[in-house]
Amino acid sequence: MPQLSEMTRKLHPRYGFETLAVHSGSPPDSSTGARSFPIYQTTAYVFDDADHAASMFNLQAPGFIYSRLTNPTVAALEEKLATLEGGRGGTVASSGHAAETLALFPLMSPGMEVIVSNKLYGGTINLMGKSYRKFGWKAIFVDNDDPDAFRAVLSEKTRAIFVESLANPGGVVVDLEAIAKVAQEAEVPLIVDNTMATPWICRPFEWGADLVVHSTTKFLSGQGNAMGGIVIDSGRFPWLGNVKYPSLSEPCPDYNGLTFAETFGDLAFTLYSHAVSLRDLGCSQSPMNAWITLNGVETLPLRMERHVENAMEVARFLQGHEAVEWVSYAGLSSSPYHQLAKKYLEGKAGSVFTFGIRGGYESGLRILENVELFSHVANIGDTRSLILHPASTTHRQLNEEQLLAAGAGPEVIRLSIGLESSADLIADLGQALASL
Ligand SMILES: *Cc1c(COP(=O)(O)O)cnc(C)c1O
Repeated sequence: MPQLSEMTRKLHPRYGFETLAVHSGSPPDSSTGARSFPIYQTTAYVFDDADHAASMFNLQAPGFIYSRLTNPTVAALEEKLATLEGGRGGTVASSGHAAETLALFPLMSPGMEVIVSNKLYGGTINLMGKSYRKFGWKAIFVDNDDPDAFRAVLSEKTRAIFVESLANPGGVVVDLEAIAKVAQEAEVPLIVDNTMATPWICRPFEWGADLVVHSTTKFLSGQGNAMGGIVIDSGRFPWLGNVKYPSLSEPCPDYNGLTFAETFGDLAFTLYSHAVSLRDLGCSQSPMNAWITLNGVETLPLRMERHVENAMEVARFLQGHEAVEWVSYAGLSSSPYHQLAKKYLEGKAGSVFTFGIRGGYESGLRILENVELFSHVANIGDTRSLILHPASTTHRQLNEEQLLAAGAGPEVIRLSIGLESSADLIADLGQALASL
């Protein structure tokens, strides 16, 4: 079961973000000395003896049983990311969507409600708005830009609030502190999807969030080659004795009647996520993907710095172009979210943003066909620059009202700016726009 290693505990208070990105969670291998953290490509682990096996199955001893629950390479990634977010523990999942479900699973039950921002990644809107209904979980969508709208729909059935720190795709920033206050007053956890910002730009726990989720598929792995997700727990929410959250606050018959909140304290959520959520839902990540992502995170600070620099230059270019109607990038002072970006993102508004093209849908499709360096891909957070027309792809299952709310109208183009020379990216977009 996950536990912060000796090395991370020693590193944590003393070192900077870049040092932790490289070292936390991945010390030299204890049995071989291998400096690159090994890929533990194994399903199961030999027990010392019958008592050892029994104590692990009772959650009385830490250790590895079966890779659906825990795996050393996956645990290294959990520790690295939990450290960078400033959290207590993490649970890695097979994808970002799986991580969202892991975040809600211990909190929800049929008939219960989660209050959700209306400006989210389109896939999340679908998952929450449609598929969760089959579990009896109800998502209530409210205006992202109005903290009072969150407060207005609180009820006895509310079990969580869910927002994105920097929303995909529109370059929208949420007022984290104000929404954390609503959650705190209602005594429900605030869950923040921090995929687009990454902990290099924003650490939601510093603003009052209780749980953070990521699609590690994006900037964390960083090269568009490994699906994954994680839920990270701050360890601060008071589950103990809280009747709203019986999974954590009442005895669990599977494990001899132990109460997670009582036995594991600030690791309760993380241990439940492994011992029950991953055990039963089975959305665990392969050791290979965890290893790819571990390597990716080591260079996160360097990559993000360049992603943001390039995005700023491209956004400025587009803002001055006659074929462009508007640019929605919180790094620009023209953005209504610029002040929030200064407060929560240190002014670094990530590298994914949208712009509106004159001529609407048809012009949008023409641009996609005419760019050369940009790949037409339904992804973000790659070394390569990516381009997408949300209305005809990722957001096409949404109705017109949802499209507009999500900032994905017919004229909208989304860019994920990569690590190429910014002059080449600007030249490529310039020639594509000139073809209109
Ligand atoms: C991509 C994405 C997800 C979903 O993650 P997958 O790894 O594709 O399942 C969730 N939230 C945001 C903000 C995303 O960009």
